[in-house]
Amino acid sequence: MFNSLSDRLSSTFKNLKGKGRLTEADIDATAREIRRALLDADVAVPVVRSFIAGVKERALGEEVSQALNPGQQVVKIVNDELVTILGGETRHIQHAKTGTTIIMLVGLQGAGKTTLAGKLAHQLKSQGHTPLLVACDLQRPNAVKQLQVGGERAGVPVFAPHPGVSSEFEAATGDPVQVARDGVAEANSRYHDVVIIDTAGRLGVDQELMQQASDIRAAVNPNEVLFVIDSMIGQDAVATAQAFNEGVGFTGVVLTKLDGDARGGAALSVRHVTGKPIMFASTGESLKDFEVFHPDRMASRILD
Ligand code: GDP
Repeated sequence: MFNSLSDRLSSTFKNLKGKGRLTEADIDATAREIRRALLDADVAVPVVRSFIAGVKERALGEEVSQALNPGQQVVKIVNDELVTILGGETRHIQHAKTGTTIIMLVGLQGAGKTTLAGKLAHQLKSQGHTPLLVACDLQRPNAVKQLQVGGERAGVPVFAPHPGVSSEFEAATGDPVQVARDGVAEANSRYHDVVIIDTAGRLGVDQELMQQASDIRAAVNPNEVLFVIDSMIGQDAVATAQAFNEGVGFTGVVLTKLDGDARGGAALSVRHVTGKPIMFASTGESLKDFEVFHPDRMASRILD
């Protein structure tokens, strides 16, 4: 039994070491395995197709290294391509040169935005910033309270609409665009140097959701708009990312629930269709389960 793509391909080409150049036949033989590995990792079908075409082009005619057999060599090319596409340089939060840095979180309901807001606030605080969380998810019952709990854990204050919610089954009332404006004004008057705005999601992409998020964006002009996406979303990653990219626009991506079973293909799909950097990974429910995104780890997760 071979578990990883590397093992499978290396065994196929075991006897061809030192063959000179990779031929089209060698590469075609491996394309099927690569395709299967990428689909198993939930990379979207059109993305797989275009990725393999790119790898084939690069692999054709490449010298076979004496140290690797052709199978290993193709795996190396695939791995290098994945790392390049997934990352390049790590993109950090771009803080405002003067005044308050505004970070807005967007994504579907359940993607992990509210959880992430607390983690990001915690991280920024530990770096010496003085963040303020702003609760603009007035859609989902309990979202404001959940943000307040996250804020408390992170030791970061939360700006929420008044009057607050009276029961956890009730959504807060108010105009999210106004709450965002008021939150930013509050931050300015109380010397918070970063504002993190949690916004509402829906279970699926819809017009009202996009409109609300883009109204908030227009009202407060954030330095960063982070698109938060559940890594378990699988083949839906492409359509969801495209919808948010066109409907609201975003500057970076946060991949959540990487502690689950997902093989991480959503990362490649989102990156491929939007070209936007993946900045952070979320790996659990507690404040510390949050890290800068590592393209090389994701590439091996996809291939192994
Ligand atoms: P929102 O609707 O986008 O604000 O999503 P939430 O922040 O409420 O998250 C939805 C659910 O996913 C909650 O039960 C969270 O505890 C859980 N969650 C969020 N991020 C992660 C993560 O990285 N790993 C795991 N295992 N669960 C997460």
